[in-house]
Amino acid sequence: MAFSTKTRKILVALLITGWSLALIYYFFQLPAIKHSLKTKQLYYNNRLLMGTFWQVSSPNKQAATIVFSEASRIEQLLSKYIATSEISQLNRLGKLKVSPDTFYIIKKSIEFHDKTFKAFDITVGPLIDLWGFTTQEFQVPTDDKIRDTLKLVGSDKIILHGNDNVVEFKIPGMKIDLGAIAKGYALDCAVKKLKEHGINNCLINAGGQVYALGDKFGKNWKIAIQGRNKLEIIGALELKDKSASTSGNYEQFFLKGGRLYCHIIDPRTGYPANNQITSATVITDKGITADALSTAIFVLDKDSQKQLIKEFPETQIKIY
Ligand code: ADP
Ligand code: MG
Repeated sequence: MAFSTKTRKILVALLITGWSLALIYYFFQLPAIKHSLKTKQLYYNNRLLMGTFWQVSSPNKQAATIVFSEASRIEQLLSKYIATSEISQLNRLGKLKVSPDTFYIIKKSIEFHDKTFKAFDITVGPLIDLWGFTTQEFQVPTDDKIRDTLKLVGSDKIILHGNDNVVEFKIPGMKIDLGAIAKGYALDCAVKKLKEHGINNCLINAGGQVYALGDKFGKNWKIAIQGRNKLEIIGALELKDKSASTSGNYEQFFLKGGRLYCHIIDPRTGYPANNQITSATVITDKGITADALSTAIFVLDKDSQKQLIKEFPETQIKIY
């Protein structure tokens, strides 16, 4: 197409004016654009803690340091794999004056035992050892051995001396294992500390159990529920100020004689839970409750699951 010289001059002038206006607009807006990019930035940090992979996502740079330091503090108190932890000492001595944190979590665990038809029981320690889950040297024990070991199991055999924070076992040889509740409690402690520091938006993923504090730039945090195959997503959740915990038979298990034996034990029988479900996810406002209930649901049969769900109306439960 041919233009006259005059038209061409007008077009060039319009082009230059257009570009100049665009540039002026860009430079004036630059601080605002930069600011919006900055405020929409999330910091991601990972750490191995409590035997699992933790990931912290938050618009606040300090969030991860606070979360990791709380999780590490709780791990040092509660891990049965740390010889100096209060739980290891209590398991060795059978009686110990413990810190308020340890006393609180044991007390809460006994309450969960009472509310879950005895499916949740932190005194499963000797059974976890017997089946080989502590050392990864798995075995299917004899019925006699299981019956003997069951004598050491039962949260009603823990004595709590509330006035001086002393925990005592009624029977020598008893062992506490907080593997089904400690992570949930650590999440609650971390969230409390974040709030004390004025941090109100943060997603913490502790090896599959999450706490979604606040939101992600005004929208709920979105999380996926992993299936048996790590790449398979079996559910999606949108969370705000909630914890979601999944207990399943695919994280830790062994196969023998064509049967799968998982690390969640039914404390009433001494055998690994075997109720034909793959996983149970519990969503509620406290990490400690989500953690304990997801383990209990995984142990219980359908009728007891329904009864338990009625007892916790504020809690959402998904079974796969
Ligand atoms: P995960 O460790 O994968 O988050 P859970 O929260 O369900 O899974 O915890 C399982 C761990 O809890 C086991 O490895 C064991 O240490 C302990 N445990 C097993 N069975 C029970 C039970 N019935 N009640 C309480 N703790 C249990
Ligand atoms: Mg649990």
